[in-house]
Amino acid sequence: MNPLADALISPHLGSDRPFLVGGSEPQSYGAFMAGVARMANHLVAEGLAPGDRLAAQVEKSPEALQLYLACVLAGIVFLPLNTAYTGAELDYFISDSGAKLFVTDASALAKRAEGQGDKFDPVPRGPDDLAALLYTSGTTGRSKGAMLTQANLLSNAEVLHQAWGFSERDVLLHALPIFHTHGLFVAVNTVLMAGASMIFLPKFEAEAVIAALPQASVMMGVPTFYTRLLSDPRLDAARTANVRLFVSGSAPLLAETHRAFEERTGQRILERYGMTETNMNTSNPLDGARKAGTVGPPLPGIELRVVDDEGRPVPQGETGGVEVRGPNVFKGYWNMPEKTAEEFRPDGFFKTGDLGRLDADGYLEIVGRAKDLIITGGLNVYPKEVETAIDALPGVTESAVIGVPHPDLGEAVVAVYTGSADVAGPLDGLAGFKQPKRFLRVAELPRNAMGKVQKAELRARHAGLFA
Ligand code: AMP
Repeated sequence: MNPLADALISPHLGSDRPFLVGGSEPQSYGAFMAGVARMANHLVAEGLAPGDRLAAQVEKSPEALQLYLACVLAGIVFLPLNTAYTGAELDYFISDSGAKLFVTDASALAKRAEGQGDKFDPVPRGPDDLAALLYTSGTTGRSKGAMLTQANLLSNAEVLHQAWGFSERDVLLHALPIFHTHGLFVAVNTVLMAGASMIFLPKFEAEAVIAALPQASVMMGVPTFYTRLLSDPRLDAARTANVRLFVSGSAPLLAETHRAFEERTGQRILERYGMTETNMNTSNPLDGARKAGTVGPPLPGIELRVVDDEGRPVPQGETGGVEVRGPNVFKGYWNMPEKTAEEFRPDGFFKTGDLGRLDADGYLEIVGRAKDLIITGGLNVYPKEVETAIDALPGVTESAVIGVPHPDLGEAVVAVYTGSADVAGPLDGLAGFKQPKRFLRVAELPRNAMGKVQKAELRARHAGLFA
């Protein structure tokens, strides 16, 4: 048995059903999987053995997806790398992982595999065997390799397939990068599980996405996709009429974006929450209330709690650390047993490092990362609360609130924002200690490839503000 291959690859062998559609080279499931098998044969011929790591820094392409699935077939641990990584960063990932092969061009690999046989018996794997190693974006300290097992990926694909009502009639509009959990596992594994089709765009470009929307039934995006679509006047209810589900995740979706999107298209974006280490943890429901500003209740089979520093659950409605346990949660950090032990409770719950609170219906609201918590004059300030107050001001587009070293207070609250407004404060409804000491207007907030605001980068930029 090879649980992932049995669920995601074997059912599609020889099938005429459409897998990739809409692009210049449509491919049936059967043709695509034959290419996967050829690549798996080629990798084995190159001397790769089950359990070996294969690192890939490749452009998004059908062949890059085939490479991922060829690894699944051959029991090789797939290590996708952000295309933006530089030489020095790559050196670290390759040496830390001990990767046996580093692939930089998936199409060239596919060409080399052309003479190989298009059948491949999946290499036997157990549920606990590694399927992938994904390095976290690591905004502080060293990036860590999250070990994801066959069971981690499979359980999440099963859960999302059910929770989001996927079927083979679905056509997913895929504009995300595939070096990250969201585009690779959430999107692709769910599609494969359902036997659905995919419009596989090389990247997010408003023009191409707008053109493809009428053919799609589901779109998955990061919040910036939605804000960019909203700035295009062609986005309207008619253009999205065929779409049954818009999903957002990887960074907080502003409640304002949620409302504006509904106003324009009549569609309520479904927001979900996950991370590299855990796959998806929570999701707003397909049927039932989708609450803007929340990421929904835990997905079936996943336990979630909000706790204080000692790991004791806090009363409902109060903010604390978010912890999760379930088949989705990774096995640990590669070569870092001590770091792994630190991040797990004795009862098996994983400390996500996110702060959140549960509402009366059990929906989770993410308040931010614990390491972004500001302690000013000994008092805790949750940036999200201040950001929400600033975002509500006329002429403000968005904001990021950070703690900056301050001689007197330890840290001072500083607000960085975009928009046309000249914000001076004080902000309504916020206690004095939460009021930003400075408001800095900027043209743009720094973001990574997944649309996350880089607070560490902002803190570094403004570290000398009160020096
Ligand atoms: P990554 O491992 O790169 O996927 O980053 C995971 C982190 O992204 C989580 O720990 C959260 O801090 C953040 N995140 C993911 N989804 C959401 C969401 N829907 N709302 C707010 N933050 C999110």
